[in-house]
Amino acid sequence: MRFETLAIHADHESDPATGAVTPPLHLSTTFERQPDGSYPHGYVYIRSENPTRDALERLLAALEAGEAADADAGGQVEAAAFASGSAATAAVFQALAPGDHVIAPDDVYHGTVNLLRTVFAPWGLDATFVDMTDPAAIEAALRPETRLIWVESPSNPLLKITDIARVSAIARGAGAALVCDNTWATPALQRPLALGADLVVHSTTKYLGGHSDTLGGAVIGRADTALFTRVRALQRAAGAVLSPFDSWLTLRGARTLAYRMRGHSEHALAVARFLAERPEIETVHYPGLSGHPGHDIAARQMALPGGMLSILVCGGEEAAMAVAARTRVFTRATSLGGVESLIEHRASIEGPQSRTPRNLLRLSIGLEHPDDLIADLERALVGD
Ligand SMILES: *Cc1c(COP(=O)(O)O)cnc(C)c1O
Repeated sequence: MRFETLAIHADHESDPATGAVTPPLHLSTTFERQPDGSYPHGYVYIRSENPTRDALERLLAALEAGEAADADAGGQVEAAAFASGSAATAAVFQALAPGDHVIAPDDVYHGTVNLLRTVFAPWGLDATFVDMTDPAAIEAALRPETRLIWVESPSNPLLKITDIARVSAIARGAGAALVCDNTWATPALQRPLALGADLVVHSTTKYLGGHSDTLGGAVIGRADTALFTRVRALQRAAGAVLSPFDSWLTLRGARTLAYRMRGHSEHALAVARFLAERPEIETVHYPGLSGHPGHDIAARQMALPGGMLSILVCGGEEAAMAVAARTRVFTRATSLGGVESLIEHRASIEGPQSRTPRNLLRLSIGLEHPDDLIADLERALVGD
């Protein structure tokens, strides 16, 4: 089956008990045991397993495995759903051991830096931050105890593109695992497992949920690997699992992922082209523009360039804040990946240690009509 069909059917048949076409929302925390002590349905207690979360995990595994999901190769791919993208990220680091070394991008999601610095450095995990678009910098950072290389592409908020297959070869040569945070691209546009990644991490809060109404995360990988087995054990034992209702909302959102990602990408390209011509804008960071340094790699490893872009506004922080203050269709808010367009001054959200340019605005391009988005930005740029 192809991606669009998997997104609608991979996780379920009609409910055998009732014939319901959509998967039921199971809230029960516990399941009946037979007189002989057995659990014929395989469910015992909600933290370990829940039918609605299982359905989402089947769907996410199928989407990241892609068209191979119904062939034998993808059969072993599994997903573990967590209470947030950050809980999923933390489980991956916890799956390592104190004394291990991690290489991460110097522009990795700020919550991931925060976890590495404030939670995992005291625990004994050492991290080096490098420019992931520079293979020589990655090689130079390798140590005998390097166990994991973390990539995020496109990156936040500069939309840098990492050649995932190339970094995967470096990781393999060093005996380290490659983990890809695929939140921004989603499996509709990019399949890191096929490019050599060992694990994929998601904040499902963003495009997978797609409607800015559910917090969640996931780790996806081959079930027979030691690393995924450990992540699964941490999910069940530490218990940062996704709730049934959030699982249900994420399932509902993911059905339309392919179509939403096409819309986000088409609108983002139109907005990026408009902004690239404006005298008020210094730079547009969008991998769909041919002048973007990652354009060729993005064209190779992504089906479409995605719905995120950032701009540097002429005139510094004040001018950038003023543009954001004047939008009416774009909402000033953090986060991304919903149907509504958002605009955000990143440096002031990331805090004092942020390396983000002070005149940068990040735009999550939604599914409104692109002409309305462009008109809104034009009004905000000229200042009326
Ligand atoms: C939002 C985000 C996260 C963290 O996810 P939460 O669900 O907010 O915990 C991780 N990585 C990326 C790229 C994100 O955009």
